[in-house]
Amino acid sequence: MIKEKSSILYSRAKKVMPGGVNSPVRAFNSVGGEPIFIKSAKGSKIIDVDGNQYIDYVGSWGPLIFGHAHPRIVEAVTRQSEMGTSYGASTELEIELAEKVVDAVPSIEVVRMVNSGTEAVMSALRLARGFTGRDKIVKFEGCYHGHGDSLLVKAGSGLASLGTPECPGIVSCLAEKTLNLPFNDAGAVSNLFQKEGADIAALIVEPIAGNMGVIPPKPGFLETLREETKKAGALLIFDEVITGFRVSVGGAQKLFGVTPDITCLGKIIGGGLPVGAYGGCKEVMDHISPVGSVYQAGTLSGNPLAMAAGNVMLDLLSESNVYDLLEEKSKRLCSGLEKNTKDLGVATQFTRVGSMFSNFFTDQVVKNFESVKTCDTEFFKRYFNGLLDENIYIAPSQFEAGFMSAIHSDNEIDQTIEASFKALKAAQS
Ligand SMILES: *Cc1c(COP(=O)(O)O)cnc(C)c1O
Repeated sequence: MIKEKSSILYSRAKKVMPGGVNSPVRAFNSVGGEPIFIKSAKGSKIIDVDGNQYIDYVGSWGPLIFGHAHPRIVEAVTRQSEMGTSYGASTELEIELAEKVVDAVPSIEVVRMVNSGTEAVMSALRLARGFTGRDKIVKFEGCYHGHGDSLLVKAGSGLASLGTPECPGIVSCLAEKTLNLPFNDAGAVSNLFQKEGADIAALIVEPIAGNMGVIPPKPGFLETLREETKKAGALLIFDEVITGFRVSVGGAQKLFGVTPDITCLGKIIGGGLPVGAYGGCKEVMDHISPVGSVYQAGTLSGNPLAMAAGNVMLDLLSESNVYDLLEEKSKRLCSGLEKNTKDLGVATQFTRVGSMFSNFFTDQVVKNFESVKTCDTEFFKRYFNGLLDENIYIAPSQFEAGFMSAIHSDNEIDQTIEASFKALKAAQS
């Protein structure tokens, strides 16, 4: 496969951007080789600058449930751009999207739009601290919540330990306020809340972990989080930036029947444009300015292009039985992949919730970050590059989710399964 033009662009990019990229994982550091540069995309396929076509299971890291350049989203964005791309003033589009979000997500009565998932989470934490008058935040090792200072803190394994900054540039007095626990360990949560509950402003969790690969919550885990936070007067924050509108219209909270106090959204609700949102009950949300005194603002917040795309996205999701379709397609793919690994004797753990899935190259049961770290990342590296050579594009890291769209055809899925057999076989030798 020729990647000459990508290679030239990568050299140019490295001169003017750190690592040649605007988001680290795009640099292919954990899989070796050079990143491909994309020229265009349509439906389930992306096309690089050398003209290579790939079946895409990244989907822009989650937003593209209806694939790339869906005609109705393109039309809505085009139409809106002709009427202006940003006003710095209110529009009806914002209300429409807010109404759809409020309708769909059980915990949200009032919602504030921002520009990214990171911004949504940062703002939600500030709100939780402002609302409770407390400083401490609890999170889980291996959960990613964007790059806000409070959350880029390494988790200690086992018992909760006081955080030390894992990333230079984060002030220690902030990092110390972030407590880390192992995902899926309800006992550790109860112990921590028994000791420190009165100081905890919020516990934040990806209700289905998606940033260490996909790890579903154990039965009862989310319920424990709900009980313990409630008892302690702390807020429960679900970071549904990936799961919101992907696993169901109401997100993971609808799926599992556990309602948090604040929900963070992003990715899908922008239909592929930059967006984020956080919402909750009116009593909590009314602490945000201009009603309350917790300040949060944004020049491009509620941007008309993003709102136009988001509105169509949520319409598309409510019009069809897309979740059944996603389930069917994802099941077809994952059972094919699983059969391959069995036939070839490759130790692999498969996890999936609807259209988000992972295959972990380990013989350990995966339930948290500790177990995920047992994966054979060298094997993954060879597998990834094998797939790429077969024109299949998955996330360039063992610890990322795969995403199915509603328009991947059965044919493309079967092609992927065949390619994966070859890539696994090649990775074995
Ligand atoms: C992607 C992601 C974020 C960050 O969103 P950005 O738009 O990349 O800032 C936060 N939380 C979760 C769970 C995510 O997957």
